[in-house]
Amino acid sequence: MKIFKLLVGLSAFSILLCGYTTNINKNINIEILPSLEVNQGETLVINIKSDTPLTNPIYFFKGKKYKIYKKGKNSYKALLGISAIEKTGVHYLLIRDKDSKLEKQFNLTVAKSNFPIQNIRISGKKSSLSADNKELKLIANAKKVISNIAYWNDIPFNSPTKGCLASKYGLLRYHNGKPTGNYHKGIDIKAPSGQIINTITKGQVILAQRFRLHGNTVVIDHGQGLVSLYIHMKKIYVKQGDIVTADQEIGEVGTTGFSTGPHLHFGLYINGTPINPVKYWLKYIPKCK
Ligand SMILES: [Zn+2]
Repeated sequence: MKIFKLLVGLSAFSILLCGYTTNINKNINIEILPSLEVNQGETLVINIKSDTPLTNPIYFFKGKKYKIYKKGKNSYKALLGISAIEKTGVHYLLIRDKDSKLEKQFNLTVAKSNFPIQNIRISGKKSSLSADNKELKLIANAKKVISNIAYWNDIPFNSPTKGCLASKYGLLRYHNGKPTGNYHKGIDIKAPSGQIINTITKGQVILAQRFRLHGNTVVIDHGQGLVSLYIHMKKIYVKQGDIVTADQEIGEVGTTGFSTGPHLHFGLYINGTPINPVKYWLKYIPKCK
Protein backbone atom coordinates (compact mmCIF):
# COMPACT_ATOMS: atom_id res chain seq x y z
CA MET A 1 0.00 0.00 0.00
CA LYS A 2 1.36 3.41 -0.92
CA ILE A 3 0.52 6.38 1.24
CA PHE A 4 1.61 9.95 0.64
CA LYS A 5 1.36 11.98 3.76
CA LEU A 6 2.47 15.27 5.17
CA LEU A 7 5.12 14.75 7.78
CA VAL A 8 5.57 17.55 10.23
CA GLY A 9 8.17 18.08 12.88
CA LEU A 10 9.95 14.72 12.81
CA SER A 11 13.17 16.22 11.52
CA ALA A 12 14.29 19.02 9.22
CA PHE A 13 14.08 16.53 6.38
CA SER A 14 10.42 15.98 6.88
CA ILE A 15 9.20 19.51 7.49
CA LEU A 16 6.69 20.36 4.78
CA LEU A 17 7.88 17.51 2.60
CA CYS A 18 5.70 14.79 1.23
CA GLY A 19 7.56 11.66 2.17
CA TYR A 20 6.95 8.29 0.63
CA THR A 21 5.84 5.59 3.03
CA THR A 22 4.91 2.00 2.42
CA ASN A 23 3.95 -0.94 4.58
CA ILE A 24 5.91 -4.04 3.57
CA ASN A 25 3.54 -6.12 5.63
CA LYS A 26 1.57 -5.35 8.74
CA ASN A 27 4.79 -5.40 10.77
CA ILE A 28 7.22 -3.27 8.78
CA ASN A 29 6.92 0.33 7.55
CA ILE A 30 9.45 2.07 5.30
CA GLU A 31 9.60 5.83 4.88
CA ILE A 32 11.71 7.45 2.17
CA LEU A 33 12.37 11.20 2.39
CA PRO A 34 11.98 13.55 0.62
CA SER A 35 10.37 11.14 -1.92
CA LEU A 36 11.19 8.50 -4.54
CA GLU A 37 11.80 11.34 -7.02
CA VAL A 38 14.94 13.34 -6.33
CA ASN A 39 17.24 15.73 -8.12
CA GLN A 40 20.95 15.22 -8.74
CA GLY A 41 22.93 16.29 -5.65
CA GLU A 42 20.13 15.56 -3.17
CA THR A 43 20.08 13.43 -0.03
CA LEU A 44 17.60 10.65 0.68
CA VAL A 45 16.74 9.35 4.12
CA ILE A 46 15.48 5.82 4.63
CA ASN A 47 13.56 5.19 7.87
CA ILE A 48 12.34 1.74 8.83
CA LYS A 49 10.02 0.87 11.70
CA SER A 50 9.34 -2.73 12.58
CA ASP A 51 7.31 -4.54 15.22
CA THR A 52 10.13 -7.03 15.73
CA PRO A 53 13.92 -6.59 15.45
CA LEU A 54 15.48 -6.79 11.97
CA THR A 55 18.80 -8.54 11.42
CA ASN A 56 21.45 -6.40 9.70
CA PRO A 57 19.18 -4.37 7.41
CA ILE A 58 20.96 -3.06 4.30
CA TYR A 59 20.20 -1.25 1.09
CA PHE A 60 21.64 -1.82 -2.36
CA PHE A 61 22.13 1.10 -4.74
CA LYS A 62 24.07 0.95 -8.02
CA GLY A 63 25.63 -2.42 -7.23
CA LYS A 64 26.88 -1.48 -3.77
CA LYS A 65 25.47 -2.36 -0.40
CA TYR A 66 25.20 -0.03 2.57
CA LYS A 67 24.28 -0.58 6.17
CA ILE A 68 20.98 0.69 7.61
CA TYR A 69 21.73 1.67 11.21
CA LYS A 70 19.74 0.96 14.35
CA LYS A 71 18.28 4.18 15.73
CA GLY A 72 15.98 3.01 18.50
CA LYS A 73 13.99 -0.02 19.51
CA ASN A 74 13.16 -1.67 16.17
CA SER A 75 13.76 1.52 14.20
CA TYR A 76 16.49 1.95 11.61
CA LYS A 77 17.87 4.77 9.49
CA ALA A 78 20.24 5.30 6.57
CA LEU A 79 21.30 8.10 4.25
CA LEU A 80 21.66 7.84 0.49
CA GLY A 81 23.56 10.53 -1.42
CA ILE A 82 22.84 11.24 -5.08
CA SER A 83 25.80 12.77 -6.90
CA ALA A 84 25.54 15.93 -9.06
CA ILE A 85 26.34 13.86 -12.15
CA GLU A 86 24.23 10.79 -11.31
CA LYS A 87 22.56 9.33 -14.41
CA THR A 88 19.04 10.64 -14.72
CA GLY A 89 16.16 8.19 -14.93
CA VAL A 90 15.10 5.20 -12.86
CA HIS A 91 17.50 3.46 -10.46
CA TYR A 92 16.71 0.45 -8.34
CA LEU A 93 16.88 0.72 -4.59
CA LEU A 94 16.66 -2.60 -2.80
CA ILE A 95 16.11 -2.80 0.93
CA ARG A 96 16.40 -6.05 2.79
CA ASP A 97 17.58 -7.76 5.96
CA LYS A 98 19.57 -10.89 6.59
CA ASP A 99 16.60 -13.02 7.67
CA SER A 100 14.51 -12.00 4.63
CA LYS A 101 11.79 -10.62 6.89
CA LEU A 102 12.18 -7.57 4.74
CA GLU A 103 12.84 -7.44 1.01
CA LYS A 104 11.51 -4.63 -1.13
CA GLN A 105 12.68 -3.00 -4.35
CA PHE A 106 11.87 0.63 -5.09
CA ASN A 107 12.12 2.59 -8.33
CA LEU A 108 14.05 5.72 -7.53
CA THR A 109 13.81 8.45 -10.18
CA VAL A 110 16.70 10.90 -10.46
CA ALA A 111 15.91 14.17 -12.24
CA LYS A 112 18.37 16.62 -13.79
CA SER A 113 19.45 19.55 -11.65
CA ASN A 114 20.74 21.73 -14.54
CA PHE A 115 23.88 22.84 -12.76
CA PRO A 116 25.51 25.76 -14.60
CA ILE A 117 29.02 25.90 -16.02
CA GLN A 118 31.62 27.76 -14.00
CA ASN A 119 34.72 29.00 -15.79
CA ILE A 120 37.71 29.78 -13.60
CA ARG A 121 40.48 31.91 -15.04
CA ILE A 122 43.81 30.80 -13.74
CA SER A 123 46.95 32.67 -14.61
CA GLY A 124 50.65 32.15 -14.07
CA LYS A 125 52.13 29.79 -11.54
CA LYS A 126 48.92 28.54 -9.92
CA SER A 127 47.59 27.03 -13.18
CA SER A 128 50.41 24.52 -13.09
CA LEU A 129 49.68 23.45 -9.52
CA SER A 130 48.83 19.79 -9.34
CA ALA A 131 48.29 17.24 -6.65
CA ASP A 132 50.51 14.23 -6.28
CA ASN A 133 49.04 10.74 -6.09
CA LYS A 134 49.61 10.52 -2.35
CA GLU A 135 47.55 13.67 -1.75
CA LEU A 136 44.68 12.50 -3.94
CA LYS A 137 44.66 9.05 -2.38
CA LEU A 138 44.70 10.29 1.22
CA ILE A 139 41.83 12.73 0.62
CA ALA A 140 39.79 10.27 -1.49
CA ASN A 141 40.10 7.62 1.22
CA ALA A 142 39.14 10.05 3.98
CA LYS A 143 35.94 11.05 2.13
CA LYS A 144 34.90 7.39 1.92
CA VAL A 145 35.22 6.61 5.63
CA ILE A 146 32.12 4.90 7.06
CA SER A 147 32.08 4.27 10.81
CA ASN A 148 29.33 2.78 12.92
CA ILE A 149 28.99 5.49 15.56
CA ALA A 150 26.58 8.33 14.81
CA TYR A 151 28.15 11.51 16.19
CA TRP A 152 25.53 13.78 14.67
CA ASN A 153 21.86 14.22 15.24
CA ASP A 154 20.05 17.48 14.74
CA ILE A 155 20.02 19.22 11.39
CA PRO A 156 20.33 21.80 9.94
CA PHE A 157 23.86 22.48 11.18
CA ASN A 158 25.41 25.93 11.59
CA SER A 159 27.44 27.13 8.61
CA PRO A 160 31.15 26.26 9.13
CA THR A 161 32.13 29.94 8.86
CA LYS A 162 30.49 33.37 8.56
CA GLY A 163 30.46 34.59 4.99
CA CYS A 164 28.59 34.54 1.73
CA LEU A 165 28.10 31.82 -0.85
CA ALA A 166 30.58 32.55 -3.65
CA SER A 167 30.23 29.28 -5.53
CA LYS A 168 27.49 26.68 -5.41
CA TYR A 169 27.67 22.90 -5.32
CA GLY A 170 27.38 21.08 -8.64
CA LEU A 171 28.81 23.73 -10.97
CA LEU A 172 30.49 22.07 -13.94
CA ARG A 173 34.13 23.14 -13.80
CA TYR A 174 35.97 24.73 -16.71
CA HIS A 175 39.48 26.13 -16.42
CA ASN A 176 40.31 28.97 -18.82
CA GLY A 177 37.29 28.01 -20.95
CA LYS A 178 38.14 24.33 -21.14
CA PRO A 179 36.05 21.59 -19.50
CA THR A 180 37.90 19.72 -16.77
CA GLY A 181 35.42 16.82 -16.61
CA ASN A 182 35.00 17.74 -12.98
CA TYR A 183 32.29 19.48 -10.99
CA HIS A 184 32.20 21.50 -7.80
CA LYS A 185 31.82 18.91 -5.06
CA GLY A 186 31.11 21.41 -2.30
CA ILE A 187 30.39 25.08 -1.69
CA ASP A 188 32.75 28.06 -1.48
CA ILE A 189 32.10 30.44 1.37
CA LYS A 190 33.87 33.76 0.84
CA ALA A 191 35.28 35.11 4.09
CA PRO A 192 38.28 37.17 5.23
CA SER A 193 41.60 35.42 5.72
CA GLY A 194 42.01 34.34 9.34
CA GLN A 195 38.29 34.07 10.09
CA ILE A 196 37.44 31.16 12.37
CA ILE A 197 36.13 27.89 10.88
CA ASN A 198 33.92 25.74 13.09
CA THR A 199 33.02 22.12 12.60
CA ILE A 200 29.37 21.63 11.65
CA THR A 201 28.68 18.89 14.21
CA LYS A 202 30.39 16.38 16.46
CA GLY A 203 32.84 13.97 14.90
CA GLN A 204 36.37 12.62 14.74
CA VAL A 205 39.17 14.26 12.75
CA ILE A 206 40.40 11.72 10.20
CA LEU A 207 42.72 14.02 8.26
CA ALA A 208 44.44 17.27 9.25
CA GLN A 209 47.29 18.03 6.92
CA ARG A 210 48.76 20.54 4.47
CA PHE A 211 48.61 19.51 0.81
CA ARG A 212 49.90 21.08 -2.40
CA LEU A 213 46.55 21.36 -4.25
CA HIS A 214 44.00 21.32 -1.43
CA GLY A 215 46.13 23.44 0.89
CA ASN A 216 45.52 23.03 4.62
CA THR A 217 42.86 20.34 4.82
CA VAL A 218 40.63 18.92 7.57
CA VAL A 219 38.32 15.95 7.08
CA ILE A 220 35.87 14.98 9.85
CA ASP A 221 34.00 11.71 10.19
CA HIS A 222 30.54 12.34 11.70
CA GLY A 223 29.62 8.67 11.62
CA GLN A 224 27.38 6.35 9.66
CA GLY A 225 28.67 7.57 6.31
CA LEU A 226 28.56 11.35 6.90
CA VAL A 227 31.92 13.12 6.35
CA SER A 228 32.74 16.85 6.11
CA LEU A 229 35.72 18.43 4.37
CA TYR A 230 37.34 21.86 4.88
CA ILE A 231 40.11 23.00 2.52
CA HIS A 232 42.36 25.97 1.61
CA MET A 233 42.60 26.83 5.31
CA LYS A 234 45.16 29.33 6.63
CA LYS A 235 45.65 27.50 9.93
CA ILE A 236 44.56 24.13 11.33
CA TYR A 237 43.82 23.90 15.09
CA VAL A 238 43.10 20.16 15.28
CA LYS A 239 45.00 16.95 14.65
CA GLN A 240 44.15 13.53 13.30
CA GLY A 241 42.26 11.44 15.87
CA ASP A 242 40.79 14.40 17.80
CA ILE A 243 37.13 14.17 18.78
CA VAL A 244 35.51 17.51 18.00
CA THR A 245 32.24 18.92 19.29
CA ALA A 246 29.62 20.78 17.26
CA ASP A 247 30.80 24.32 16.42
CA GLN A 248 34.33 23.67 17.75
CA GLU A 249 36.98 25.96 16.25
CA ILE A 250 39.05 23.84 13.88
CA GLY A 251 41.04 26.46 11.99
CA GLU A 252 41.03 29.66 9.95
CA VAL A 253 39.89 30.66 6.46
CA GLY A 254 42.77 31.04 4.01
CA THR A 255 43.84 30.64 0.42
CA THR A 256 46.38 27.83 0.64
CA GLY A 257 46.80 25.40 -2.26
CA PHE A 258 44.90 25.82 -5.56
CA SER A 259 42.86 28.86 -4.63
CA THR A 260 42.32 32.33 -6.07
CA GLY A 261 41.47 34.18 -2.84
CA PRO A 262 40.48 33.65 0.80
CA HIS A 263 37.50 31.30 1.06
CA LEU A 264 36.44 28.06 2.67
CA HIS A 265 35.67 25.18 0.36
CA PHE A 266 33.29 23.02 2.36
CA GLY A 267 32.19 19.58 1.21
CA LEU A 268 29.72 17.08 2.61
CA TYR A 269 29.87 13.39 1.69
CA ILE A 270 27.47 10.50 2.21
CA ASN A 271 29.13 7.11 1.86
CA GLY A 272 31.77 8.86 -0.27
CA THR A 273 29.29 10.66 -2.55
CA PRO A 274 29.53 14.48 -2.55
CA ILE A 275 26.06 15.95 -1.96
CA ASN A 276 24.64 19.46 -1.90
CA PRO A 277 25.33 20.77 1.63
CA VAL A 278 22.94 23.73 1.38
CA LYS A 279 19.98 21.46 0.75
CA TYR A 280 18.65 20.40 4.19
CA TRP A 281 22.06 20.15 5.89
CA LEU A 282 23.18 23.73 6.58
CA LYS A 283 21.41 26.81 7.85
CA TYR A 284 20.89 29.56 5.27
CA ILE A 285 24.03 31.15 3.77
CA PRO A 286 23.42 34.40 1.82
CA LYS A 287 24.74 34.62 -1.73
CA CYS A 288 27.65 37.00 -2.33
CA LYS A 289 26.62 40.28 -3.99
ZN1 LIG B 1 35.25 25.05 -3.89
